[in-house]
Amino acid sequence: MKTKIIATLGPASSGLETMRGLAKAGVRIFRLNFSHGSADSFTEVMDNVRSLEKELGLTLTAMADLSGPKIRIGDLYKSPAHIIRGDRLVLGPEADRMEHEGGRLYLPFEDTAILKDLAKGDTVLLSDGMVELTVTSVLKPCAVELKAHNNGLITSHKGIAFPGKFFSIPALTEKDRVDLEGALKLGVDAAAMSFVQTKQDIVDLRRAMEECGRVVPIIAKMEQKAAYDNLETILDVADGLMVARGDLGVQCPLPDLPIMQKQIIDACRRRDKPVIVATQMLISMVDNPAPTRPETTDVANAILDGADVVMLSEETAIGKHPVEAVAYMARIADKAEGYGLQRSGGPLSPGGKPDPERTLAYCACLLAEQTRSAALICHTRSGTTAQRVSGRRPVAPIHALTPRAMSRHLLNFSWGVIPHHVDRDQPSHLARCQHFVEQWSGIQPGQSVVITAGQKTPGREDLHTNEVKVYYKG
Ligand code: PGA
Ligand code: MN
Repeated sequence: MKTKIIATLGPASSGLETMRGLAKAGVRIFRLNFSHGSADSFTEVMDNVRSLEKELGLTLTAMADLSGPKIRIGDLYKSPAHIIRGDRLVLGPEADRMEHEGGRLYLPFEDTAILKDLAKGDTVLLSDGMVELTVTSVLKPCAVELKAHNNGLITSHKGIAFPGKFFSIPALTEKDRVDLEGALKLGVDAAAMSFVQTKQDIVDLRRAMEECGRVVPIIAKMEQKAAYDNLETILDVADGLMVARGDLGVQCPLPDLPIMQKQIIDACRRRDKPVIVATQMLISMVDNPAPTRPETTDVANAILDGADVVMLSEETAIGKHPVEAVAYMARIADKAEGYGLQRSGGPLSPGGKPDPERTLAYCACLLAEQTRSAALICHTRSGTTAQRVSGRRPVAPIHALTPRAMSRHLLNFSWGVIPHHVDRDQPSHLARCQHFVEQWSGIQPGQSVVITAGQKTPGREDLHTNEVKVYYKG
């Protein structure tokens, strides 16, 4: 399987035994969800990740998912409150409750910057979009009357959303800063940032990492309309994106979601940056041992759209069948990849502006195809060369050799890439690659591989990727 799978850890999956089962079934990235736990609560799973890496001889990536500024209402007088279609409600700060309540359900909400911005006709969603309301009038600058469009339940502290609105709320909250410091100390390999709106959010997170003394790759979760509008500039600074369909489907009209998914994936493919498709992929498997028909189709289509990674959330965190969900996902992925490779009929041309690095990766894939090579071997320090090769979607597996632990863990997000540690004791990258081929049991004597490596370039200090070689194992 070339597609990567993320499993969200939770009560159903945090034990070593289950995590071993998840990794064996195909998980390469474990998501530590900081909306449901603090750094202390992840000490044991972090130990599990590191010990499973040794035991299974795999690179396993721990990704901290920071909660971000999910906006919530306060305490209701009576919770849950039953809402009937046509009901009038009031949204405003707790202090104004007496003034406005007047028989209407009062939703206390303290963010006056948001309240001030609301106008008649705006949509407000509660409980992950389960209850839809419209602003019918502005009662005073910081309180509005709402009308319910459907029946539903509202409970205290539920999430509230204002679809399509941009508020200048930084994505990095005080809680996130504390969680980030704890997560970096724990040794996580990557961080996902929730409710990103602009590239500045990513820049802020990276600066906060620098202040903690450790910088890891950043995945920007695309779950706001503003993030979608700023897709290209966010991609300039993020190491990868997540199509976070749960919240994105609340913030934007649901019928737009399938196309937004494709557009976000396309943008990542044009940059050879990894992209994750997330949320409700096999949601029925929280209870059932097999997925529904549309769920299997959704996973396959995400992969055919060009996703590198597919993610499980509740399915593995709280579901009854965490390992089976991963096993199903892996089987669907295998089939979809096979079809995708057959459909493309060869490595994908990089397109776009002339770019020697992308062309080199493409040539390596063409060579591998025409020599029927058993593998592509990439020496890569930052991971970029292996990402460029992955972007061409070759048939042969991509073995990425890197001396940097951070790059190795980042490359787990890339389709078809198997990351390996390589020692720096040999100065020549080519020699390191050839040595790997000689000792790797997956390649038979007499078989060829295609190697990309770096040799000294006049006038340059570093060894950047500039050579491609067909190499026959002795
Ligand atoms: P979450 O993010 O699970 O942290 O909310 C994913 C999503 O919104 O789809
Ligand atoms: Mn979300």
